[in-house]
Amino acid sequence: MALWMKSFLVVCSILISETSLAKNMILIIGDGMDDQQITAARNYLHGAQGSTILDTLPVRGAVQVLTQDETQPKTPLYVADSANSATAMATGVSTSIGRIGTSANADKDLTNLTELAIKKGLKTGLVSTAAITDATPAAFVAHVNQRGCQSPKRMDQYESYGDLVIDCALDLKSNGGLGSISEQLVDSQIDVLLGGGAKFFKLKNESKSQTLIEQAQLNGFDVAFDFDSAQNSDENKKLLGVFDKKHLEVKWQGTGGRVAEKPQFSILNWFHKYLGSVSLPDEMKCEPNPEYAQRNTPSLKAMSELALTRLHNKGGFFLMIESASIDKQSHKRNPCGSIGEAEQLFETVQLALDFAKDNPDTLILVTADHGQAAQIIPNGSMFNAYGVPISTPGAIARLQTPEGGVMAINYATNEFSHEEHTGVNVPLFANQNVKDKNGEDLIKPLIQQRDIFSLVKTYLEL
Ligand code: MG
Ligand code: ZN
Repeated sequence: MALWMKSFLVVCSILISETSLAKNMILIIGDGMDDQQITAARNYLHGAQGSTILDTLPVRGAVQVLTQDETQPKTPLYVADSANSATAMATGVSTSIGRIGTSANADKDLTNLTELAIKKGLKTGLVSTAAITDATPAAFVAHVNQRGCQSPKRMDQYESYGDLVIDCALDLKSNGGLGSISEQLVDSQIDVLLGGGAKFFKLKNESKSQTLIEQAQLNGFDVAFDFDSAQNSDENKKLLGVFDKKHLEVKWQGTGGRVAEKPQFSILNWFHKYLGSVSLPDEMKCEPNPEYAQRNTPSLKAMSELALTRLHNKGGFFLMIESASIDKQSHKRNPCGSIGEAEQLFETVQLALDFAKDNPDTLILVTADHGQAAQIIPNGSMFNAYGVPISTPGAIARLQTPEGGVMAINYATNEFSHEEHTGVNVPLFANQNVKDKNGEDLIKPLIQQRDIFSLVKTYLEL
C-alpha cells in the first residue's frame, strides 16, 4: 500500500473514533412543570385523550426534590425554589433556598456540569426564556450566595422586594468572590448563552472599567441584542444573545389578558357560609399575547436550534434549555401563559428528538425543578348539590378547551400578589436510559434531583 494511502486510512480511523466518542447531552428543564402543568397543557393542546411529545418518550421516572434549611442544613424543607433545585441538578449537591452553586450555610463553591464539560473539552450552551442571569441558567455557571446577586448594581445592600434586602457583598470580586452572576457569565468559557436579561449586561462591571458587554467581547463573545444578529454572528466566536430587557415575553394570555379570578359570593353569604349563592368567573380562552410578537421574541425552539447549530460536530456538547415561564405565569395565576410556555417546551423536545435521530449519541433528559400552584379542579364543586355555595378560597380560571370542554384551574397557595411553589415530586423523561459500567439502567422509576448530575456525568464521562 502506498504511504499516502496508509496515512489517509490512519487519519480516517482517528476521525471515526473521535466522532464515535463524541456524545451530546440536552437537558431540558420546564420551570415549575409538574404533572398538573403537563396535564393542563395536554388537555388544552391535544385533548384529554391526546398525548404530548413527552408522553412518547420511552423512559419515564419521578424525581424527589430536596431542599436544605440554610442555618441547619441537616433539616429538610419540603418546598424548593429554582435556585436550590437547579443547583442540585447542576452540581449534585442539595442546598438551601436561593443559593446558586454554593452549599447551604458553609457557602462553599460547588463544581457544576458545565465546568466539568469545559474541562473535558466539550462545547457548552445555556438557553432560557428567562433572563440568562435567572436562577435556573445561573446555577449551571455561577457561584453566589443569593439568586438576586444578578448584576454589579445588585451586590451591595440591594433592596429586592420592598424592605427585603439581599446582601451579596461576600461575592464581590473586591472581597475575593467571583462577582455577580452577569459578571460570572461574561467571564465564563461557555460557548452559547441565549435568553433575556440585556439590562444586566449594559451596566459597568465592579471595577467600573468597562461595561459587561465590553468585558464579554474581550473574552471572545459576539454579543447580540436581537435574534437576527445572533443568527448572523461570527461562528468562530462564543455567543451571548440577550433578546429582551429581562425575561422574554410569553406566547399566550387569557381572553383580553384575564388571569384566574376569585369566585363571587352573594351578600347573604356574608351572614353564614351556607347561605346565598356563588358565581364563578366567566369562561375564557387562550389567545396570542400581543407583546410576544411586538417585541420580536424568538421562540425557545428557534433559540435552541441556533444553539445546536453552534455546538454540534465539535467533539460533543452539554446544552441546558429552560422554558422558564411555565413557572412565572403560574405565579401570576395565568394558566394560558403557562400552557403556551409548555407548548414551547414540547416543540423544543421535538427538535431535540429530531437532532438525536441524526446523532444517536445524544441523551435527552426532560424534567422540572419543582411543583407549582396550579391545580385542575372540578368546574363547580360537587358539594353545590347540597344547595350551599361552596367554592375554592383561591382564584379560578375556567378555560374553554378546543375540544369543547371547560377546564377549571385553581390557584390557592395564598391571597397575596403571587402564588407559591409546591412540594410535589416532579417528572423525568428521557429518550434512552443511561447505563453504568455493568450495563445496568441508572434512570430508576424514582430518583433524587441531585442524581441528574450523576446521570449527565456518567453519560458524558466527565
Ligand atoms: Mg427558572
Ligand atoms: Zn417560581
